[in-house]
Amino acid sequence: MAAIHLENLVKHFGGFSAIKQMDLEIRDKEFMALLGPSGCGKSTTMNIIAGMESPSSGRVLFDGVDVSQTPMGKRGVGFVFQNYAIFTHMTVRQNLAYGLKMRRLPKAEIDKAVAKVAQLLQLEPYLDRPAAKLSVNILQRLAIGRSAAVNPSIFLLDEPLSNVDAAFRAVMRTELKHLQREFGQTMVYVTHDQLEAMTMADRIAVMDHGLLQQVGSPLDVYNNPCNTFVARFLGAPGMNLIAGAVVEENGKLSVDCGPAGRSGTLAAPLAAGVRKAGAKDVHFGIRPEDLEFAAEGGAGLVMQVVFVERIGPRAILHLTAGDRNAKIVAENLAAVKTGERLRLSPRAGRIRLFDAGSGRAIL
Ligand code: ATP
Repeated sequence: MAAIHLENLVKHFGGFSAIKQMDLEIRDKEFMALLGPSGCGKSTTMNIIAGMESPSSGRVLFDGVDVSQTPMGKRGVGFVFQNYAIFTHMTVRQNLAYGLKMRRLPKAEIDKAVAKVAQLLQLEPYLDRPAAKLSVNILQRLAIGRSAAVNPSIFLLDEPLSNVDAAFRAVMRTELKHLQREFGQTMVYVTHDQLEAMTMADRIAVMDHGLLQQVGSPLDVYNNPCNTFVARFLGAPGMNLIAGAVVEENGKLSVDCGPAGRSGTLAAPLAAGVRKAGAKDVHFGIRPEDLEFAAEGGAGLVMQVVFVERIGPRAILHLTAGDRNAKIVAENLAAVKTGERLRLSPRAGRIRLFDAGSGRAIL
């Protein structure tokens, strides 16, 4: 068992609050990604879990036991940083075996563990090479392997792929997920790259300005962002947020998005949420892949194409209507031209509304 509980965590550096307040439960054997922009407090959170920093207040519990005062070496966590720490005078095999030797395990056991990690991380061809001669990509793979070999029940990785190239990063995403499943570790993975978080994590904890914004499965945080920050931060491009005002006609609610026109009638659950919240000024939220072309004369927003960004078979259309902007992502957009006016309707069930004042989702 290796569940982690951060309870009422606060961390100040002098007068600056890197973590303002944080409560987070990470389940046993879970792959949890800490995701957020630079400076939001991800690494500080990680360092506190590892025991490299102590919290200003609050507690860290492993399986219900308070480890807040337990020194790093006694917490039994594995840690991989952005900058690999490898013994360059040793071979790959010696590096992988290092932690196990320190634990004075029998040779047969060490050989078995090294072979398993080498196979999982595709390090077998390099086993007898000196680490000094390896490429950056392989070195980072080795750094992960060396920490993984001792099979810590809690494995912390802080931006481990930020120095490797894009193609290798894609390979490593699969391998890391594999490794975590195979070893059954509780993995906490810090990243500012949403693709890494979305592809690997069981759950994502989205942070901003020292505060936890939302925790949930990748699909849940993508589909149901709790506020405009999460809506914008996830997705490439992020969710369209078009300023609008709720209007009621014949008992039906819609959103008037100014120069972009008026949305169709809001579905009953969303309309109920708007009524309950008494919301008036809102952000009309729709993912770029959820805006479809609508028939002339029908309901929907009307916007003009200002830029077509082609990415192989896909394109991102940049749209504008007065001071309102939006983007569409779709395939088969070859015929669309700059300057064209498009009528767009949001895919059924995909509209999200956010209160314009607080930024919070209206449910
Ligand atoms: P990045 O991805 O850039 O590393 P992060 O989300 O991991 O960002 P942290 O490294 O946790 O952010 O830092 C959060 C804030 O706390 C930053 O503004 C940083 O400058 C500040 N900070 C971190 N460590 C210290 C320290 N030892 N002393 C003073 N300020 C610190």
